[in-house]
Amino acid sequence: MVSATAHAGSPPAPSVPSSASVAPRSDRDRFAALAFCWADLLLHLDEAGVIQFAAGAFSAFTGRTPPSLVGEHFLSLITPEDGPKALGYLKQTHGRGRLEGAIVRLSRQQGLPLPMDLSAYTLDGHCYVALRLRAHSPDRAHDRASRDQRTGLLSAEAFSETAGRRVKAAREAGRDVGVTLVNLKGFEDLQGRLDESRASTLLGALGESLRTAALDADSAALVAEGRYGLLHDASLDVGALEARLEALARGHDPSGEGVEVETAALDLHGSGEVREEDLARGLLYAMNQMQRTSTGALSLRTLPTTLLKLVAQAASEVTDFRRLVADRRFHIAVQPILSATTGNIHHYEALCRFEATQPDASPFRAITFAEETGLIHEFDLAMAHKALEWLGSKPRNSDAYQLAVNISGYSIGISRYVDGLLALLENNPWTRGRLMFEITESARMTDLDAANQFIQVLRGLHYRVCLDDFGAGAASFQYLSALEVDVVKIDGSAVRNAMKVAKGKAFLSALTELCRRLGVSTIAEMIDSPESLHFVRDCGCDYVQGFLFGRPSLNIKDFSPLPHEDLFLKPPRRRVTVTSNAPALPSATPPRA
Ligand code: C2E
Ligand code: MG
Ligand code: MG
Repeated sequence: MVSATAHAGSPPAPSVPSSASVAPRSDRDRFAALAFCWADLLLHLDEAGVIQFAAGAFSAFTGRTPPSLVGEHFLSLITPEDGPKALGYLKQTHGRGRLEGAIVRLSRQQGLPLPMDLSAYTLDGHCYVALRLRAHSPDRAHDRASRDQRTGLLSAEAFSETAGRRVKAAREAGRDVGVTLVNLKGFEDLQGRLDESRASTLLGALGESLRTAALDADSAALVAEGRYGLLHDASLDVGALEARLEALARGHDPSGEGVEVETAALDLHGSGEVREEDLARGLLYAMNQMQRTSTGALSLRTLPTTLLKLVAQAASEVTDFRRLVADRRFHIAVQPILSATTGNIHHYEALCRFEATQPDASPFRAITFAEETGLIHEFDLAMAHKALEWLGSKPRNSDAYQLAVNISGYSIGISRYVDGLLALLENNPWTRGRLMFEITESARMTDLDAANQFIQVLRGLHYRVCLDDFGAGAASFQYLSALEVDVVKIDGSAVRNAMKVAKGKAFLSALTELCRRLGVSTIAEMIDSPESLHFVRDCGCDYVQGFLFGRPSLNIKDFSPLPHEDLFLKPPRRRVTVTSNAPALPSATPPRA
C-alpha cells in the first residue's frame, strides 16, 4: 500500500486519493500510485502549464481542494517570488524529460509559504509534477541572502549543503555526477571595462549558462566574483561550457579581450563511502579555499582535486578551529550603538576578530564555516567568556561599558551551550544590565518555542535580547511574533533597500511604529553616510550603528571623540547614560544603586 510520507511539524498527512488506492488503470494512475511513495502533492499539467489533475493534501497545505485547481495555471500555487524560477523548472523539464531536487515555495491562503521539494517528468508533452514538504529544517537555499541577485546563483554555503546530499543521492541511484570549479581569469579587469548595464547583462548571462549546465537551477554556486562551482551530469561537455563562458565575456567586453576560463573537476571517486555532512563540509571547504585565495589561478592549481582529500582537509580545519576556540585565540572588536537623536553611545556590539592585527578582517566566513560544521555553539560560549573578561577589565561602577554579544540561532538549540551560558551568567550576576545578546542567523532556529523560552530565561535574569538582521530573510516577522525580545536590529540591506524605493520610508516607519507598540526598541545598522542617518531617524529608528561612527575596533578609545557629532540634534555627552530624549532600550535591568 502506498502512502505519503509524514513529516515532523508538517500539516496532516494527505489521504490517499481514490486513483492511488485502486488498481492502476492508466499511465496517470500508475504515476499517481508511484509518486505517492514520495510526494505529498501531485499535479498533471498540460504543455502550457495548466493544471489537468491534482491529488493529495492540497486542502491541508494550501486551503484549496484538488478539483478547484483544475484549469488554473501551476504558478497560481507558487509564491510570486518563486514564479520565474518555477517556470524555468517547467521549461527544463520539457527540455530534458525530467527534473529532480528543485525547490519551490507553495503560497497559502493563511500562514507562511511552505518550501517543497519538486520533481517532474514529461511524457508526450504533458508534465507530471510531484511536490513534497521539505523536512522542517532551515532552508538556507531559500534565504534571499543565500542567492546572488545578479547571477541567480546560490551562495557557496547553500550550494554545498544541498550538493552534498545530491551527490550522495545521485551516486546511490547509480547516476554519474561531477563537481567542477570554474575560474574566470581577468574577470575583475573585465568588470572595470564595463558600464553598469553591460556588467549586469553579463552577470545574468553567466549565471544562466552555469545554471543550464548544472543538474538543476540550485546546483550552481557563486563562490566569489568570477569563481563558480557546479554540480552536473558526468556527461557534461566541460570544454563546451568553457567556450560558452569565454564567448560571453568576449561578447560583452568593449575591448574584445574577454577572460581566460579555467576549470578544475573534483574527483568524486570513493565519495560513496563518505557521510553526507562530510561531503557537504568538503565541498564548502573547497569553495572557501577558492574564495580565500586572491588569485583564482593559484587556488585551482593548489586545490586538492579529489573530494576525499578535501573532506580530510575540512576535518583538519575543524580540528584547527576547535583548538583556536579552546585556546581562545580570538579578540573582541567593539562598535558603538548610539541614540539616533542625541548621538549618545548606549552600548557596544562585540564582534569577534581572529587576527589581533587585523581589526577589519571579517569573521563572517569562519563563523559560517563553524555554523555549517556544527561548531558554532562552542565558539559562542567561548565568546561569552571573552565578553565577561572584557567587561571585567572595565570599571564596574560605570554605565559606559555595556556589551552586546552575538549568538547564532543554531547555538540556542544546543543544550550544552544553553546550560554553559546560564551557568556562566548565574555565577557572574554583576554582568546583569551590562551584557546583552543579539540573536543572529535566526533561520537556524529549528524550534521557535524553545528559542523563546531560552530568551525569556535570559530576560528574566535581566539580560536584554536583540533580534539581529531583521529584514534580511523572508521570515523576519514570524520571528518577531514568536520571539519576545527587547530590541530589533534592522539589517543594513533592509535599510538600503528602503532608501532605494519610493515606499521604503513608509515601510520602515511602519516597522518602527509596530516595534514601538510592541515595546521593542529599534537599531538601524550599517549606517555609513549622513543620508542614511537622516533617513532612519526620519523613519523613527531609535538607535544607529555603522561605519559613519567608526569601524569595529579593538580599542574602545577609538570612539572618543565620536566622528560626526555635528550630525546630531544636540551634541552627544561623553558620559553614557540613556537620557529622556533618547528612547531607552526597554530595560530588563533592575535599578542600579
Ligand atoms: P552582525 O552581527 O550583523 O554584525 C554587524 C556587521 O556589520 C559587522 O561585520 C560589522 O563590522 C559590519 N558593519 C558595521 N557597520 C557597517 C557599515 O556601516 N557598513 C558595512 N558594510 N558593514 C558594517 P563583521 O564584524 O564582519 O561580522 C559579520 C557577522 O559575523 C556578524 O554580523 C555576525 O553575524 C557574525 N559575528 C561576528 N562576531 C560574532 C560572534 O562573536 N559570534 C557569532 N555567533 N557571530 C558573530
Ligand atoms: Mg550582531
Ligand atoms: Mg546584523
